[in-house]
Amino acid sequence: MIQFNLIDEKWIPVRRHDGSETMIAPWEVTKEFTDNPIVALNAPRPDFNGALIQFLIGLVQTVAAPANRVEWKQKLDKPPEPEELKAAFMTVHNAFELGGDGPRFMQDKEKLESKDLCIDRLLIDMPGNKTRDENTDHFVKRNTVTCMCHSCCATALFTLQTNAPKGGRGKLTSLRGGGPLTTLVLNDKRCSSLWRTIWLNTLVSGDFLRICGSIDKNTDSDKFPWCGKTRTGIKTAAIEVHPAQMYWGMPRRIRLNLERSKQGKCGICGIYSYNLIDSYREKTKGNDYKGGWLYPLSPFFHKGNALTAVHAQPGGVSYRNWLGFVQEEGKDKIPAKVVHEFKTIRQQSDRQFRLWAFGYDMDSMKARCWYDSVMPLISVKPDSIKNYEDETANLISTADIICGNTKIAIKRAIQGRPQFDPLTKKIKWKYQDINKIPSDEQDERKKVLFAMNDQSTYMAIDVFFWQSTEKAFYETLHSLKKAVEANDDLVEIHKTWHQTLCYASMKLFDINVSEGINEDVAPKRVVLALSELKMFNQGNKIKELLDLPVKTAAAKGKKNAVL
Ligand SMILES: [Zn+2]
Repeated sequence: MIQFNLIDEKWIPVRRHDGSETMIAPWEVTKEFTDNPIVALNAPRPDFNGALIQFLIGLVQTVAAPANRVEWKQKLDKPPEPEELKAAFMTVHNAFELGGDGPRFMQDKEKLESKDLCIDRLLIDMPGNKTRDENTDHFVKRNTVTCMCHSCCATALFTLQTNAPKGGRGKLTSLRGGGPLTTLVLNDKRCSSLWRTIWLNTLVSGDFLRICGSIDKNTDSDKFPWCGKTRTGIKTAAIEVHPAQMYWGMPRRIRLNLERSKQGKCGICGIYSYNLIDSYREKTKGNDYKGGWLYPLSPFFHKGNALTAVHAQPGGVSYRNWLGFVQEEGKDKIPAKVVHEFKTIRQQSDRQFRLWAFGYDMDSMKARCWYDSVMPLISVKPDSIKNYEDETANLISTADIICGNTKIAIKRAIQGRPQFDPLTKKIKWKYQDINKIPSDEQDERKKVLFAMNDQSTYMAIDVFFWQSTEKAFYETLHSLKKAVEANDDLVEIHKTWHQTLCYASMKLFDINVSEGINEDVAPKRVVLALSELKMFNQGNKIKELLDLPVKTAAAKGKKNAVL
């Protein structure tokens, strides 16, 4: 029987500061911290990196969390020695054995008599479409992986249990739903290290234990469900188990076939091994996690009365997600607990911290792609935060309105049918694919934009708009921070931002309509849609948001088509 303990073995691929690549045991993460620290995970797939960082944060949070904020601050730059971490991790050694006769990491306690499945089915598949080029080559297509080494297999298993998508009848999703999004705080690039990433996302023990769950439920199986019998056929609420189960949720009943092993190359990392795993068994109806799990590494939003973990949406992660990922949007969108802790307690003005957001874009059971994005986190003096955040929200709302104006104008130019309404003396647009256009302008806008939701042309316009204005957005935030802290006038910042957005809007219109013109597009319609777009982008709602001078009704005359 193969034994492979995830505390003892060197199974985590990492990269050191000098560029060298190696494999470490989890407790070695602080080895050579002063001279040549480990700076990043180095897994062969980006989703594995996303899972491994959650594994390490989960492990540290479970057995080596700081007792208070002073300890947290001290250990950010002076981490515990590897031996100290090892001693802490050894307290849960028994739960991290991948093979053997006892509990098996992330596997059902029962042997599961069912047919063998090829090991590649553990992978949450994805096409090679990704926003950051550097990892694109590493995607592995289904049916190309016939066996895995222990390191890749343990990671694939953890990745699946942590992200579990809908899998058909009886195959349950992760405790955050299928394919959740994760946001982590990263340190300044100049002093980034794997330890600091772990520690920046580890909460003070008492704070973590108060999030949800019950600290009275303190057996191994309350924390690590594979140590006990799977709660099949019943729901599991947070209050019925220990808070740590948030990091160790096991919705799928899986048992790796470790009784036989193959010799050859791992289908994922390519390493040669005498102990490759080629199959597993699975049964339906695993642990069925129901509502109220406030996983500290994910943003949440209100859905009805319940908080639901955010999932990545088509179009990827960009500053459009700032509200909800970095700062609250009313009471509806709530950043991850670790981001909130950073903003309210941990930020330091001398370092440029960053936010790392990643997750699958799931189309029900299938992963469409993997998103992976890093944004700057700007430290602001405590007494300026409210003002700065209100201003930031307005910058984003403005971008959202202008992006919407642009998409509507393009749709009108390409396939709209303008009709003069003698009653209101306004142009009313009709479209082939939308019935019953509401008479109210705001309702019309909502309906037209909603109709574009799943259309690839408009999704591409969306992505282009947000990407092309992203750099300017962060520059604007830096200027905003300085101005707000110094109590300076913000007019120039607002004007520049407005110009940036209008420029991106016009460029998109040109690319999609004027430049790529097809025979169906009537020039008159294009001219009309373009002149409306210019007028809408200069509209009162936008100017009010940005505190720019607003035209009065008298000055506008009869032209009241402001969206
Ligand atoms: Zn491998």
